[in-house]
Amino acid sequence: MTAFKSNCNLKIFNKREDIHHHLNNLRSAGKSIGFVPTMGALHAGHLSLIEAARNKTDVVVCSIFVNPTQFNDKKDLENYPRTLKEDLEKLRAFKCDILFLPEVEEMYNSSEIWKISLGDLDKILEGKIRPGHYQGVTQIVNKLFDTLKPDFAFFGQKDYQQVMVISHMVRKMKIDVKIVVCPIIREMDGLAMSSRNVYLSPEERIQSLALYHALTLAQNLFETQSIVETKKRVRSFLDSCPGIETEYFEIFNARTFKPLNSKNAEVTIALIAAKIGKIRIIDNMYLNKGNSH
Ligand code: AMP
Repeated sequence: MTAFKSNCNLKIFNKREDIHHHLNNLRSAGKSIGFVPTMGALHAGHLSLIEAARNKTDVVVCSIFVNPTQFNDKKDLENYPRTLKEDLEKLRAFKCDILFLPEVEEMYNSSEIWKISLGDLDKILEGKIRPGHYQGVTQIVNKLFDTLKPDFAFFGQKDYQQVMVISHMVRKMKIDVKIVVCPIIREMDGLAMSSRNVYLSPEERIQSLALYHALTLAQNLFETQSIVETKKRVRSFLDSCPGIETEYFEIFNARTFKPLNSKNAEVTIALIAAKIGKIRIIDNMYLNKGNSH
């Protein structure tokens, strides 16, 4: 396994059929496949997923595809950062084996319809604020799973609701893949890394720390206060932060992904979304300190 990796350069595929065939051969040779789906503009958060995949599987496949169907805002899609040259360097430095880099036409034909029932998951929090977003996410991830047939797929806790949605789809459609959730990678000062952070002005970059501070405040309050009191105090902290337009701050049971009003969950998570200027930021943190991140 090690010999295979150290001799291996990054192979790039643009066509579904070609990568499908190549991975089938590797699978037949007994290699396990680890998959990291991304939209590019790679940062240390993405690279931590590559590293997790490298530690667990024989062949690491990353995809870069800015998926149009998950953008409910056309401007956001147009403005999404694209940094392919730097991405390739990072993937090589992190010893990713294979990159899947399809064009939109390779993944979609115009007559396609996709609808999966996600229960409450696309009616609350991100699902409510970004209508259709999780339909688009499941549509593309299902296609990627179907093309690559990975043994393991690696997702960031940063998009916690997305992890819930993908896990739901995998169970519902009986897809043969194991989902691995990796911790949130943060900047030194606590801001969760995100491809969109590059668009924050210097002033907004400072203001954006309010999200991390709100989550750490919630974690501290949670030790001694009720959930109702914790939510109240964190929301009032957020109201006092300049430049922050809070969309939600909620405390959920991390397993069932239902709102909590009393401390009766094994694992509790606080989730936040806010706008700073035009940039939307989401973040989350487990409140039981043993779970960290
Ligand atoms: P994206 O390119 O934004 O679609 O993200 C691709 C994957 O990277 C998703 O599974 C994200 O949850 C994950 N990711 C994004 N930011 C971070 C971060 N700061 N730490 C860990 N994983 C992340």
